[in-house]
Amino acid sequence: MANKRASLESITLLGAGLVGSLLAIYLKRKGYHVTVFDKRPDLRKTGEVGGRSINLALSRRGYRALEEVGLAGEVQKLMLPMKGRMMHDEKGNLTHQPYGKEGQVINSISRGRLNDLLVTEAEKLGVKINFGEKCIDVDLKAARVQLENSATGAVSKVTSDIVIGTDGAFSALRNVMQKEDRFNYSQYYLEHGYKEISIPPTASGDFAMDHQSLHIWPRGKFMLIALPNLDKSFTCTLFFPFSGQPSFESLHNEKELVAFFQSTFPDILAYMPDLAGEYFKNPTSSLVTIKCYPWSSHGKTLILGDASHAIVPFYGQGMNAGFEDCRILNEVIEEQDGDWPAIFEAFQKQRKPDADAIATLAFQNFIEMRDKVADPDFLLSKKIEARLHQLFSTRWIPQYSMTTFSDVPYAEALAIGQQQSAIMERVMKTPNIEVTWEQLDFEAIVNALDQRKITLKTQ
Ligand SMILES: Cc1cc2nc3c(=O)[nH]c(=O)nc-3n(C[C@H](O)[C@H](O)[C@H](O)COP(=O)(O)OP(=O)(O)OC[C@H]3O[C@@H](n4cnc5c(N)ncnc54)[C@H](O)[C@@H]3O)c2cc1C
Repeated sequence: MANKRASLESITLLGAGLVGSLLAIYLKRKGYHVTVFDKRPDLRKTGEVGGRSINLALSRRGYRALEEVGLAGEVQKLMLPMKGRMMHDEKGNLTHQPYGKEGQVINSISRGRLNDLLVTEAEKLGVKINFGEKCIDVDLKAARVQLENSATGAVSKVTSDIVIGTDGAFSALRNVMQKEDRFNYSQYYLEHGYKEISIPPTASGDFAMDHQSLHIWPRGKFMLIALPNLDKSFTCTLFFPFSGQPSFESLHNEKELVAFFQSTFPDILAYMPDLAGEYFKNPTSSLVTIKCYPWSSHGKTLILGDASHAIVPFYGQGMNAGFEDCRILNEVIEEQDGDWPAIFEAFQKQRKPDADAIATLAFQNFIEMRDKVADPDFLLSKKIEARLHQLFSTRWIPQYSMTTFSDVPYAEALAIGQQQSAIMERVMKTPNIEVTWEQLDFEAIVNALDQRKITLKTQ
């Protein structure tokens, strides 16, 4: 809702990525004067995707924010629903595991097309977006940003009432905050990087594999995944160690690469006509977790999205968490009646525990996806949890469902999930559980969980 005071205030956003462009829409709808600066060119004109993953999994938290700003219809046109995980073993055998109950899906969506939609909508509302303008410094007390034009090298300064950094994991605003007293910061790089390789549509113009699944080739210390695209191709991502055996470092040429794929992912090779071409051309990118606090400074600046909490991509929640940041910030602006120092304080206090929790969950899911999803005991425990959820839908909600299909704060999803794991560990020790699991006392299992009231608002 627009308020009178907002119309007198100007906000500078750094970064017109996924989070920045959505936040611009929220703030403009509230009545603020919003100007955005992004260092990259306008991708609608260049047709690039920005060097990051081609597609992403959009789930409830992200979708809810998009719905709130009136974009549900447009976004739906870009979504491809994925009902579950399709695991591919070394022999090419398939196992399907639904993500949730009937109707609960995550959605593959093109990063570029979603970003274009958000930027275009922000401009339609009157937001001025300046591309090719890189922030090189910020005066935190004066809310003044210094920008460098990528074409001319010209440097300019812009002062506004508020500056918000949605400039991603390597945020320029955060860089300046880091020099402030009592600013906490940590970054942690995985030993794994990632590389994308595509699977084109078949000769008859169809998807090469089931397009309603997120495909996983779990291989213990590494994995390959694939998400469908609207043009009936898939984008595969290989999460692989940088060094060691096998690793990005250990595959030197086409012969070694093809032999490795043949023995490790045998059922995929036929679908990748340009495996070596893409593998040796596409970048190998790193994966980082960034934590910091406070997220605001001098009551005039704030960082949001990956700028304040970059996480590894294994829960498919980075963008979703950033979109949820925007929704919650919007609520807090309302609650604090536009008083920025109070807004920033309330927002960061509320959101920091959740950002830490999703970072932990994302890391745990890496182990689960690359390793555990191939384990029959793990699959059985998920089946038992699904039955518990079916029987006691509000009292036992699997952690994945809380994280992906509900708005339960991430910190709560993590805490409840930890209790559930401990209970399931005991349950899985039941003699002959593989054959007797349907005779378990499901009510006793649910009663063992410290009950809190969770209302699962499903999609
Ligand atoms: C391989 C991979 C897969 C992923 N999969 C998923 C998924 O399935 N689901 C999900 O929810 N999330 C996923 N994520 C996470 C998601 O990509 C990020 O959380 C999301 O992009 C964060 O958005 P953002 O706007 O905060 O940052 P970014 O998308 O990084 O955007 C930052 C913007 O700021 C601009 N910028 C940077 N520096 C400056 C500067 N100095 N001055 C001006 N502009 C600047 C950049 O050009 C960019 O446009 C994935 C990430 C990776 C790496």
